[in-house]
Amino acid sequence: MSDNLLTVAYIAASALFILSLAGLSNQESARMGNVYGILGMIVAFVATAASSAVSNYTTLLAAIIPAILIGAFLASRVAMTSMPELVAILHSFVGLAAVLVGIANYLGDSGLSGVEETIHKIEIYVGIFIGAVTFTGSIVAFGKLRAIISSKSLLLPGRHLLNIALLVGTIYLGFPFMEAQGSLGIQPLLIMTGLAAVLGLHLVAAIGGADMPVVISMLNSYSGWAAAAAGFMLSNDLLIITGALVGSSGAILSFIMCKAMNRSFISVILGGFGQGAAKSTGSTGVATPQGEVETINAQATAELLSEAKQVIITPGYGMAVAQAQHPVSEITKILRERGIKVRFGIHPVAGRLPGHMNVLLAEAKVPYDIVLEMDEINEDFTETDVVLVIGANDTVNPSALDDPSSPIAGMPVLEVWKATQVIVMKRGMASGYAGVDNPLFYKDNTQMLFGDAKKNVDAILSCLKAVSSTESVLAGSR
Ligand code: NDP
Repeated sequence: MSDNLLTVAYIAASALFILSLAGLSNQESARMGNVYGILGMIVAFVATAASSAVSNYTTLLAAIIPAILIGAFLASRVAMTSMPELVAILHSFVGLAAVLVGIANYLGDSGLSGVEETIHKIEIYVGIFIGAVTFTGSIVAFGKLRAIISSKSLLLPGRHLLNIALLVGTIYLGFPFMEAQGSLGIQPLLIMTGLAAVLGLHLVAAIGGADMPVVISMLNSYSGWAAAAAGFMLSNDLLIITGALVGSSGAILSFIMCKAMNRSFISVILGGFGQGAAKSTGSTGVATPQGEVETINAQATAELLSEAKQVIITPGYGMAVAQAQHPVSEITKILRERGIKVRFGIHPVAGRLPGHMNVLLAEAKVPYDIVLEMDEINEDFTETDVVLVIGANDTVNPSALDDPSSPIAGMPVLEVWKATQVIVMKRGMASGYAGVDNPLFYKDNTQMLFGDAKKNVDAILSCLKAVSSTESVLAGSR
């Protein structure tokens, strides 16, 4: 393929990626956004493979065919609840790729001299630094999301000093690296890679509890910058553009999430939020009782819902695990047909990935206009008759507002307890992701509907359907 045609293909791919991002910013256009992204990737891949830079197709195919098969296999098998883990581990691959590309680039002959060589060496050094931080940080994030590592923050004494020392060390090693001739700077380069890897590990290990969503989107951003750095090293314009798009959109998303969680962006990145002791929560994650909890069954819940005028459903991670979104959608339909106002309240960090609940509800065909963000619905709980909390915990925890010593203190939450009646659906008394006890369960207007969310939602649906069919029989006999 000629260089001119390659440039045209790269511009087309970049435009498709921009259209993809625009599409993904809205639920209704998200599917189309995904299609644009796939098309952009196909154009980018075919154009690069056909370019003059690629001559050895045997090596290319030997690397790409197993990668496509492994990727397709993993992506088709991954459960929606494990998606953040998959994303985290994929970010680590981008980081590792940037490190390997950087080292290979340094050891190869660039053929550059003077200022161009200096710039090229800076690109390599910075690219490897970002790549190494992304690589180890993403592995720790993967471990925390998969619960291999505790979700609590690791707070070493003098942790900020340690971060500063690691940063100073990496800058200091840059001098001998820049001065070394040929590939003689490999030693300071590898030591810097090690220090950056420790920095990535420590930065993410220090972030705990409910702040993990910000870390995931920050690592997403880092992986974009690592890809952009690799683009500079390889002089590949498309990689630079794509990396910059991912890097900046990840940074914007992190900023939005920090704002939504009332966190300082800088403080989250430096670690130290979410560090309070998880109160009353033992190693099993089951809270020590703070009082009596009142229980309810599916039949009584269905009756409460039928008698209500206004209902708000606040789903969380448990709804995703139980895959209860389809019967939830049916319940919503039946209640709305009976003239009951039903809406959904979505917390910005509900579930395990940004937009998790919106995706599930859209999949179950819940109308978009009744799915509201936390800010849009939080003031309406006072005039709500029944709130159904389906598998949510941290996102409806009043201690975030009432208890300054709580690890989630300051995080805005869905103020469900202000409704007349709250039904919390979960399997037992286990805490949520942040490992914090939840006083909501002991409030006078809260009743617990214990059991798997799918089973209970199915049971409520059957009760509602039974009432509906009785009503239609009665109407028919009149
Ligand atoms: P939580 O993780 O706080 O709580 C989920 C609850 O669901 C648990 O208490 C669990 O209780 C219950 N549950 C689990 N399985 C089932 C089931 N089959 N049926 C019924 N209930 C079930 O969820 P939230 O959505 O409220 O909060 C999300 C948390 O995850 C926040 O702390 C957030 O910061 C964090 N996080 C969010 C990310 C994001 O991007 N959205 C990324 C990473 C972390 P029990 O075991 O008793 O059933």
